[in-house]
Amino acid sequence: MSQQGYVTAPPYSQSQPRMGGFSAGFGPPNSSLHYGHYGDPNSSHAAAPQPGLSKSTVPLGSSAPLGPLPPATHQVSQNNFQSGPSAAGQQPHRFQSPLPPNNTGPSYPPGSHQSQPASPNTVSTSCTTQLANQLNSMQINSYGPGAIQSSHTSGHPQQLPLTQHQMTLQPGPQIPPPANNFSGLCAQSSLPSIARQDGIPGSGLPNPNLQQLPGQTPGPGYHPQQANYGPQMAGSQLSYPGAFPGGPAQLSGPPQKKLDPDSIPSPIQVIENDKASRGGQMYATNTRGQVPPLVTTDCLIQDQGHASPRYIRCTTYCFPSSSDMAKQARIPLAAVIQPFAIVPQNETPLYVVNHGETGPIRCNRCKAYMCPFMQFIEGGRRYQCGFCNCINEVPPFFFQHLDHIGRRVDHYERPELSLGSYEYVATLDYCRNNKPPNPPAYIFMIDVSYRNINSGLVKLICDELKTLLDKLPREEQEESSAIRVGFVTYNKVLHFFNVKSNLAQPQMMVVSDVGEVFVPLLDGFLVNFQESRSVVNNLLDQIPEMFADTNESETIFAPVIQAGMEALKAAECAGKLFIFHSSLPTAEAPGKLRNRDDKKLLNTDKEKTLFQPQVNSYESLARDCVANGCCVNLFLFPNQYVDIASLGLVTMYTGGTLYKYNNFQLNSDSPQFLTDLRRDIEKKTAFDAIMRVRTSTGFRATDFFGAIYMNNTTDVEMAAVDCDKAVTVEFKHDDKLNEDSGALIQCAVLYTSVSGQRRLRIHNIGLNCSTQLADVYKTCETDALINFFAKSAFKAILSQPLKVVREILVSQTAHMLACYRKNCASPSAVSQLILPDAMKVLPVYMNCLLKSTVLTGRPEIPTDERAYHRQLVMSMGVADTQLFFYPQLLPLHNLDLKSDTVPAAVRCSEERLSEGGAFILANGLSMFLWLGVSTPPELIQGLFNVPSFAHISAEATLLPDLANPYSKKIKSIVERIQSQKPYTMKLMIVKQREQPEMLFRQFLVEDKSIHGGASYVDFLCCVHKEICQLLN
Ligand SMILES: [Zn+2]
Repeated sequence: MSQQGYVTAPPYSQSQPRMGGFSAGFGPPNSSLHYGHYGDPNSSHAAAPQPGLSKSTVPLGSSAPLGPLPPATHQVSQNNFQSGPSAAGQQPHRFQSPLPPNNTGPSYPPGSHQSQPASPNTVSTSCTTQLANQLNSMQINSYGPGAIQSSHTSGHPQQLPLTQHQMTLQPGPQIPPPANNFSGLCAQSSLPSIARQDGIPGSGLPNPNLQQLPGQTPGPGYHPQQANYGPQMAGSQLSYPGAFPGGPAQLSGPPQKKLDPDSIPSPIQVIENDKASRGGQMYATNTRGQVPPLVTTDCLIQDQGHASPRYIRCTTYCFPSSSDMAKQARIPLAAVIQPFAIVPQNETPLYVVNHGETGPIRCNRCKAYMCPFMQFIEGGRRYQCGFCNCINEVPPFFFQHLDHIGRRVDHYERPELSLGSYEYVATLDYCRNNKPPNPPAYIFMIDVSYRNINSGLVKLICDELKTLLDKLPREEQEESSAIRVGFVTYNKVLHFFNVKSNLAQPQMMVVSDVGEVFVPLLDGFLVNFQESRSVVNNLLDQIPEMFADTNESETIFAPVIQAGMEALKAAECAGKLFIFHSSLPTAEAPGKLRNRDDKKLLNTDKEKTLFQPQVNSYESLARDCVANGCCVNLFLFPNQYVDIASLGLVTMYTGGTLYKYNNFQLNSDSPQFLTDLRRDIEKKTAFDAIMRVRTSTGFRATDFFGAIYMNNTTDVEMAAVDCDKAVTVEFKHDDKLNEDSGALIQCAVLYTSVSGQRRLRIHNIGLNCSTQLADVYKTCETDALINFFAKSAFKAILSQPLKVVREILVSQTAHMLACYRKNCASPSAVSQLILPDAMKVLPVYMNCLLKSTVLTGRPEIPTDERAYHRQLVMSMGVADTQLFFYPQLLPLHNLDLKSDTVPAAVRCSEERLSEGGAFILANGLSMFLWLGVSTPPELIQGLFNVPSFAHISAEATLLPDLANPYSKKIKSIVERIQSQKPYTMKLMIVKQREQPEMLFRQFLVEDKSIHGGASYVDFLCCVHKEICQLLN
């Protein structure tokens, strides 16, 4: 964690060794295992290419991007809605814009959520007015920019005047002490009395008239709620089946006035405001320290010198200039880097720069790559590195004259001089053993034990692979994929298959010594699918029959990974294993596991052991896999505990993806599984990757979170990294930062492409620095903060009691807000809660994180589910964590059937549901269709082709394809939600007041959780109390 730190020292907190080059990291395969390899100044320096010394064989101007760089087309207007200082003199560059000038509407992709291209001014003004009205009524005051004591206040007309939220809450004695529940935090059940007026029109629906159903009890796995509901309208008594047994939290005496949920900052309002002001427009990355649109806002991004927010998002775009300031504010300084993020079709893909045999031009001292932060001097003969200030010679082949403002005349013709992101072709220096890599391979490894055969899963996989293997990823210019494929089946032993193209029949080789796995064949194991199609298809037909009579129920697991890794190693290539596995590996073999799940450990200091691997061998296996570029994708089909903390470890460390299908049923779960499998096989993936984050002087990367492995403190190793994986990097000061030069970050990822090319992908971003805390707060991005907090907390629970981790999260939230209050806000009564504008939804999101299944130790939540969520979140990007912690709740009953837009979401609270409504809720892993008891019959008819609510079957997991406007519209909304997400969400149909509703309600994250987590209002009160204590 940031300044206050978790109790144990972070593993990567040692001082950074001198920076070395990637090129030094690839000697013999084992060399990268040596700790501190990059710390040896001699080795890294000597092996690094010395561009200035090499004789250039590349003619001037031969840095050929893919495709010609087009001439200037138009001036790009700057969308600077931020009030931070803008870098003066930035010119739009001359790359072809994918958009015609002054046109953001028609060429916007059909996937746009933006429905209001009309005047953003009008929209934002009306939103502002509405919010201001509400706030006034609630005695929550909005302050204009003047309230911030900032050196950079802005009078930009489009900036919302609400720069902070101020509300009167009364902390102290009026807040009851926290209930003694699991979290020990923020559990007070009654609300502080808050002055407000009734009758304020809320934007949400009135509270549904939910009646208690007699005789209905909660099902197993759901505990009755112990406290009253959080935000509810005055006077309305919520009564829910089984949920409110009249515990201690029932209010006694005359009904108290409740805090209107509309009076506290709304995530939906923040999201919609940003959409209204910035959605559907072009965002040009031409200004250092510019805050991008929210991750939930659709816009067109144009690279003009800083990496697109699709690749890098930061917790703040203005770093405090000193570490003292950083300690005071406690705002984590972090970047969430998704280096291979997918960009929409209408945005320019990355150019590839080729500097020929000399390889990329790099600073002699810090090894940073040529980028827009290098300053050319002395007529263009030298350049000063923006990261370490070293003066370097310009290699002769790269020389170019400077223009009258000191810029190279070829500035706009070279991506590496004018763009935030681009790729370099890597030379042999950047390859293992100085040899060009072989194309990667995919190995399919199928558990053929009794259960998988019996359930039909093996046949399903084999049938599907026959068509999927035609969809292996390839470079755009290639006709077919260069990726080779291999096949293994296993139960207690391993079966390798020879599928060489000239064979009439596939051949099976059994490896029964699973203690010392070896690969029984090299020739014929990894093949080109096109060439071996008939033999492979023959094999896939035979596998289900081959094991049809099996009685074997025990399986191995670690030797399976070992075998796949050895096969890739023998073939001298990187690759992915696709393992389809169902059970706890209890067979006698390395990595054998026992069922060690123990609910008694919950809420004890030993709870953390449930998230640690059961045996050490998985960690060393993971290290070997990373060293050999072997990424492990795991598809799990468990019926009971399978110890995901152990099984998933190799997947996590190797940049793989974990999929889980509980109690897999062929009929209902196949679509979800097959879609996941197809997406994963088709995914653009970078193999054998190593990432390095360089910074300008004064700060450095100190901690890394993600599906990554680290042998030392600086090199982030990933056996593979795909478009959905993000690494969150934390920075710390080691000196003062200069306001003029800012804080510069360069992320370089060396990798092997799907066709076997060695490449470097470079992302550069510049942030501002300031001596004013207000500038730091003003440029914070709450979505990125939550991504950081989630990953750092989920990492910390491996070594610390969960209670401590939760307390740190609450305390850090309070500290950040108290520091703002103390240093940035205008003086006011202590009872006022003041939230900085950029962080006004931090409390609600933080509460969602605190209530997540990972941080909630309750016996009814399966341990595997928690370990699974933990693993998924560790590699998520900002968009995915935002949705995961604050699900989207979309009303379907007021749809405009003629329009193509997705309806605006409503807040995740029961308040927003209504008997006459239908809603979709999605968080990226789960999707629900909730139907009120009075859902309009025409909607029910349209969706399900049944006459009434009572006729709807909640068993279905897909909506039927019906030829009517309701069905088409809602199916298209479901597809739209799904299309941008890495995991396929299985649709669950939930009827109001029927059993599955209890599950659904866990996702209404603003409410008090059935597992005991605080409501948003309660949490806000709790944070406010902490802030008051800090201020006193
Ligand atoms: Zn340098």
